[in-house]
Formats: sequence, structure tokens, C-alpha cells
Amino acid sequence: MSGPTDLDAAWALRWALLAQEAVSRHRIELMELDQAIGDGDHGENMDRGFTAVGARLEESAPPATPSEVLRFVATTLMSTVGGAAGPLYGTAFLRGAAACLPGEGQTRHALGGAEVATVLEAGLAGIVARGKAAPGEKTMVDAWAPAVRAARAAADAGATPADVLAAAAEAAEAGAQDTEPMIATKGRASYLGPRSAGHRDPGAVSSALLLRAAADAAVRGDGAALDDGSVPDDAAAPDDGPDDAAPAGTA
Ligand code: ADP
Ligand code: MG
Repeated sequence: MSGPTDLDAAWALRWALLAQEAVSRHRIELMELDQAIGDGDHGENMDRGFTAVGARLEESAPPATPSEVLRFVATTLMSTVGGAAGPLYGTAFLRGAAACLPGEGQTRHALGGAEVATVLEAGLAGIVARGKAAPGEKTMVDAWAPAVRAARAAADAGATPADVLAAAAEAAEAGAQDTEPMIATKGRASYLGPRSAGHRDPGAVSSALLLRAAADAAVRGDGAALDDGSVPDDAAAPDDGPDDAAPAGTA
């Protein structure tokens, strides 16, 4: 049933490792964003969590399905990230892991475009269930909500899983940018009231990094998602991906 562009456990593992790279590369930026409107620990929290993900993946036999990889990431983040973001991301990955499966006790080895959109929807639902934030409250939801909408629209239009993720990443980056003028009404930043305006939300920015890593993972590595024989844009410069990819004119 699965097609040649479907995303398997190898994709999910690449995602985890590219997320680790991205979070580590942006640790200072995330720290500074959180210093501006929070307590400054978001860069450290995320870096600690994804470093643990990478280290624990090296220690054990790699999980064999996308669901198992996402569950592994979830439990590792929950036990290592801390702060508000730990349980929020942990829940997102846990719900995403469950959404990979066609039914209870069943296994799915590769995800198509519509299934990828379903996984992202489940991730957002988990974040909302846990944190009760609505769009516009200057949280990670402001990256996830547009990302999920874009992913579903792309999937409905018949996009490949890689293109569904690329649409999600682009929308998340724009969404994170759009948090800059917002006044926070959830989380630690809400203590600042109107003074929280003028800075992007750190969790929205880290969410955009994670979704960009998911998209990059779908067009790198073994190239299985490249159905048109093209070379991914970022193949030549794998280390400067996310910044270059920021959409223009979203400020
Ligand atoms: P803490 O705020 O405990 O220091 P972090 O700094 O790790 O935790 O994470 C802060 C991020 O968590 C915020 O930038 C925001 O995106 C996200 N966040 C906080 N509260 C909520 C919430 N209720 N719903 C969604 N996201 C939230
Ligand atoms: Mg913080």
C-alpha cells in the first residue's frame, strides 16, 4: 500500500538527528528570545533534550517504525527538557506517535502525505490539550496551527509527504515570525503583559526549527522521498538550512 515517497523509520530518525543539530545551532538565539520575555532557559532546555535524544539513540537498537521513533523522542523529551516546553513537546510527539498507527495494536512502516498531516494535527492537539492556548496568545501554538493547516491543504492537493512537511515548515516559520507583535496571555511571558510585544516567542521559534528539520529529513539521507530525480536545494550546504529558508516578507 505504501508508495515510494512515503516516510519510514529512517526518516523519523533523520528528523530526530536534524532536530538535535538545529536546536544546538540555535541554542543561543532561543536563550536570548526567552531572556527577553521569559526566564532564558528555553535554548538550554531544548538543547539538553535533543542531545539526550541523540545520545540515547546511539546507545540502543534504533526503533523500527516512525511511531516508535516519535514515542522514543517523546519520552526522552519529557524526562529531560523540563520547563513548560518539556511536557508540551513530549505530549505532541506522543500524540504524533499514536497517530502514525492505523489502529490499536497495528503497525505502519511508512507514512503518506495525508498520514503526515494527521500526525502533525495530533501533535497540535496534544499541545492544546496540555497547555490550553489558542492561536494569538504568543505560544508555540502560533507556529503549529498554521503549519497544520498548510500541511492538510497540501495533503488534500495530493502533495508528497516531503512537500506536506515543506508546506508545514514554511507556515511555521511565518507563524513564529508573526508572534513578534503579539502580547502573551499564556505561559511565563504573560507575566510581562504588553511588554511581551516586540519579541518572537521562543517556543514558536523552536517549533519552526523542529518542523523544518522534519521537512529536511524527508529530502535528505537516502533521498527516497525525491520522486522527480531532483537534488534537494540544501544538499550542498546542510549546515545553514533553516535561516536561509525563512520566508521573505513575513515580518
Ligand atoms: P518555561 O516557560 O517554563 O521557562 P520554556 O522556556 O522551556 O519553559 O518554554 C517556553 C515556551 O513554552 C514558550 O515560548 C511558549 O511557546 C511555550 N508555552 C508556554 N506555555 C504554553 C501554553 N500554555 N501553551 C502552549 N505553549 C506554551
Ligand atoms: Mg523559559
